[in-house]
Amino acid sequence: MQDGCGRTIDYLRLSVTDLCNFRCRYCMPENGVAKRPHGDILSVEEIVEIGRAAVACGITKIRLTGGEPLVRRGILEICRGLSSIDGLHELCLTTNGSSLSQLAQPLRDAGVQRLNISLDTLKADKFAQITRRGTLSDVLDGLKAAEAAGFSDLKLNTVLIGGFNDSEIADFVALTREHPWEVRFIELMPMGECSLWDEHCFLPDSTVLKSCPELQPIENCGVARRYRLPGAAGTVGLISPVSHDFCGECRRIRITSDGKLKGCLHSREELPLRGLHGIELEAAIRRGIAQKPPRHHLTDGGSDTPRDMNEIGG
Ligand code: SAM
Ligand code: SF4
Repeated sequence: MQDGCGRTIDYLRLSVTDLCNFRCRYCMPENGVAKRPHGDILSVEEIVEIGRAAVACGITKIRLTGGEPLVRRGILEICRGLSSIDGLHELCLTTNGSSLSQLAQPLRDAGVQRLNISLDTLKADKFAQITRRGTLSDVLDGLKAAEAAGFSDLKLNTVLIGGFNDSEIADFVALTREHPWEVRFIELMPMGECSLWDEHCFLPDSTVLKSCPELQPIENCGVARRYRLPGAAGTVGLISPVSHDFCGECRRIRITSDGKLKGCLHSREELPLRGLHGIELEAAIRRGIAQKPPRHHLTDGGSDTPRDMNEIGG
């Protein structure tokens, strides 16, 4: 369906947990988040019911996110339930990749069609530093397991952080020579944990093109402006919520793990969905879509959301 600004909304990002086994410095506090009582987060059944209602409202693509979706108990059941909804064309999942060695094949079997794997550095010591508790080799093993399970068009999400990984841009881009992956550089958004970081940490996407002038533009895909190295198997995507906001083309809504619909990652407004069923649930989702804010205010006042990224679902 269309929102109040005439944008077609067909993409739902659904957070299944705000917990995570990593503590990425820009995303989560060092001590993590307090574990909520079990009943505070959506149950498997509620998630599938909300997914079904969202599809009835015109959603055709769902991405599961978090927190880390693969630490959520019942994640395979959730995937099986959502992937069997008539009218859902795509079920995707964004993960830090650390559990894919064990879970890539079961996720594939449960109906997940695409994976985005987050990876901010290719150096083991820096990986441990940015994630505070992750191990690079687990994620690299996870990438291999994902490919072996049939996830051939993997996307790697790399958040650009000045002074941390700008020296590795060329190494990430070089991965696309051999691998049919899309390496996506994402501009760091000043919110939550990193909202007060020094200015030099926030790099515009043009940094990538300056580091790799041989990149050639190809057709865009969704919100990503895309490039390819001559003859490369894979592609490079630039996701630029700060320097080139894509609000005018945004097709997304979000639902938090505690069941609140958000029209925009950065907005304060949330519409509670828990306890609603059938026509009432669909009506609430339609209301949330109709009220989606026209744009965010990251560059003129900052993010309005009081939540950290792990709570909303990146
Ligand atoms: N745990 C999963 C993961 O890391 O892929 C899924 C959730 S995570 C919040 C989703 C994505 O948001 C990750 O690629 C992460 O790097 C990105 N992210 C988190 N905080 C961000 C920020 N302030 N600006 C830009 N991207 C951010
Ligand atoms: Fe966890 Fe993903 Fe946030 Fe890192 S970016 S702390 S992996 S939710």
